[in-house]
Amino acid sequence: MKAYQLTAWQQPPEFRDVEVPEPGPGQVLVKVGGAGACHSDLHLMEWPEGTFAWDLPFTLGHENAGWVEVLGAGVKGVEVGEAVAVYGPWGCGRCRACRLSRENFCERAAELRALGGGLGLNGGLAEYLLVPAARLLVPLGDLDPVDAAPLSDAALTPYHAVKRNLHKLAPGTAVVVIGVGGLGHMAVQLLRALSGARVVAVDIDDRRLEHARELGAELVVNSRDGADAAERIRAFTGARRAAFVLDCVGAQPTLDLAVQIVGRNSQLTVVGVGGGVIQLGQLTLPFGCSVCTPLWGTRAELQEVIALAQNGRIHVDAHYFGIAEGPRVLQELREGKIMGRAVLVPDLD
Ligand code: NAD
Ligand code: ZN
Ligand code: ZN
Repeated sequence: MKAYQLTAWQQPPEFRDVEVPEPGPGQVLVKVGGAGACHSDLHLMEWPEGTFAWDLPFTLGHENAGWVEVLGAGVKGVEVGEAVAVYGPWGCGRCRACRLSRENFCERAAELRALGGGLGLNGGLAEYLLVPAARLLVPLGDLDPVDAAPLSDAALTPYHAVKRNLHKLAPGTAVVVIGVGGLGHMAVQLLRALSGARVVAVDIDDRRLEHARELGAELVVNSRDGADAAERIRAFTGARRAAFVLDCVGAQPTLDLAVQIVGRNSQLTVVGVGGGVIQLGQLTLPFGCSVCTPLWGTRAELQEVIALAQNGRIHVDAHYFGIAEGPRVLQELREGKIMGRAVLVPDLD
């Protein structure tokens, strides 16, 4: 089968012919339905060698869903043909964090030399994906894997960020989502579904702000020219300012904006890997403001995200392409031309 692989750091990925893997004991072969193109794919291609201790080559694609194709010896509780989302952060499965389903915070991450499929190990930009353990598969029920793939990252990551802070989001508080792309368009919906907070969306692209408004944002602010974005948001929030800012960009201008709009005892969560830095110390932030840079979400949370999608409370606005179109899709993602999420679908090749 053809696989879209990263073969050298700071070089474009390449299509390579690889063997369809055979699942060993405990492993599961998944036929890929869809693999989302995440902005992290662009970051990781730009990283210099040594940023992470990952071996090359590996197949890209860390946001995957599909159908169980072959069960390795001893695998129980999953059926061949079943539709599944693939939980992305593949931990050791045995440390306390992993046993609590928090494989995104596996205590032995440094030993594993990979974060998961598409991030150091072979991912979903191929016809088949080898998943190392059945516990990493979450049943999709009636959801189509082609549509559901982005739930495993674009939705799970903001879900985790929001859920751990729900106690701060009382009705009447204001929350600000910065960057309404793949993650951000899910974040707006998740905040609407889970909290009574009023949602503000910030982006530099008016089309995405229109999208955010359709998804339930009450105020949308274009921060392209910088100057008055903070003022407009503060006029909306009043002196209390934002209870929660979720920065899905993480660049210097967005972090600078975030610091100006968070309130006392608030939460500033940065999921975007844009390279910006926040000065942290007394008097640099409002009193009681917590800052967090989470990674992805837990296995149990992926199940919860899937339940929200099954119940129609959230949906992915996706655009579908064949895997052969991968290079063009990544280029369009880089240029900011992809609205919502692009999903690469082997069956469209
Ligand atoms: P995306 O390209 O789909 O969306 C990015 C959005 O940010 C776009 O709407 C773009 O217009 C907007 N934007 C860009 N620069 C901006 C600026 N200066 N001010 C305001 N808006 C701006 O990207 P995505 O796939 O949603 O990923 C978002 C970020 O989250 C990336 O950095 C990605 O690496 C990161 N990420 C982190 C995790 C995690 O676990 N921490 C998981 C997935 C993705
Ligand atoms: Zn991602
Ligand atoms: Zn672990």
